[in-house]
Amino acid sequence: MITEKAHAKINLALDVIGKRPDNYHDLRMVMTTIDLYDRLTFEVISEDKIILSTNRYYLPNDDRNLVYKTAKLIKDMYAINVGLKIHIHKSIPVAAGLAGGSTDAASTIKALNQLFQLNMDMDKMMEIGKQIGSDVPFCLYGKTALVEGVGDIITPLPYVPRCWVVLVKPHFGVSTKEIFQNVKLEGINHPDVDQVVNAIKNNDYYGMCQHAGNSLESITFTLYPEVERIKQKLLSLGVDLALMSGSGPTVYALVLNEERAKRIKNSFDKKRYEVYAVRIRG
Ligand code: ATP
Repeated sequence: MITEKAHAKINLALDVIGKRPDNYHDLRMVMTTIDLYDRLTFEVISEDKIILSTNRYYLPNDDRNLVYKTAKLIKDMYAINVGLKIHIHKSIPVAAGLAGGSTDAASTIKALNQLFQLNMDMDKMMEIGKQIGSDVPFCLYGKTALVEGVGDIITPLPYVPRCWVVLVKPHFGVSTKEIFQNVKLEGINHPDVDQVVNAIKNNDYYGMCQHAGNSLESITFTLYPEVERIKQKLLSLGVDLALMSGSGPTVYALVLNEERAKRIKNSFDKKRYEVYAVRIRG
């Protein structure tokens, strides 16, 4: 049996550069991982099937689940004729902008590589990851990076300055597809991704906070005004940065101090929001 931790990501920058002929958007993002993770266990069984279970009743346990899809793809590619029993203990909120499904898929590729001694190198794993979802290559890499193209061009960056992340998610999910369908390239904001990269290279926490930005915020805010209210509340608490992650609806705040992070966390009503205070991993 193998256990894998699958960490959530946040976007320190997300810029939508343009639309490609295949209708995907070209992105430029700075992403890093945080100390919030799902735990996955993998066990080989003799019967040739995939048995998936999770601790969330609303998650599919068939090929609509990215973990199932990934395991099936690798089993078929490598003609593996034994089965797998997989359990996902989910802690990352679902449809939240934190790449929960993608990070589970990335862990599945790593686990199967190890369990079946497939000798896949990182390039091979990323090639498989790309077929599952655009955030999977970054999740395989798993450290701070500049991510370009459709999520497939990864340039490693140094660790981000150490700080605390407070995540606030309303009790609804947002579909990434819906947000991208509403992107109008003429009216969109463009964060200065290069300045975020430079700040990280200079270990400049305040510079990183100053330049961080997300092109998709205005779109999600228009469709789901509650998300903007979360951002405003975090800003009113005097955090160093408040920014939506991915296509939302999670908004995160950065602060340097653990006590402050916990105080901010406790100022949100747990009946209305899922709230976490965790360390940035980098
Ligand atoms: P991203 O930030 O990459 O856009 P997200 O955090 O917004 O991702 P996910 O948590 O990956 O979104 O969930 C998106 C959808 O994927 C959900 O509707 C969910 O049912 C489906 N899904 C499939 N497999 C998984 C999984 N292992 N974990 C979470 N969601 C999954």
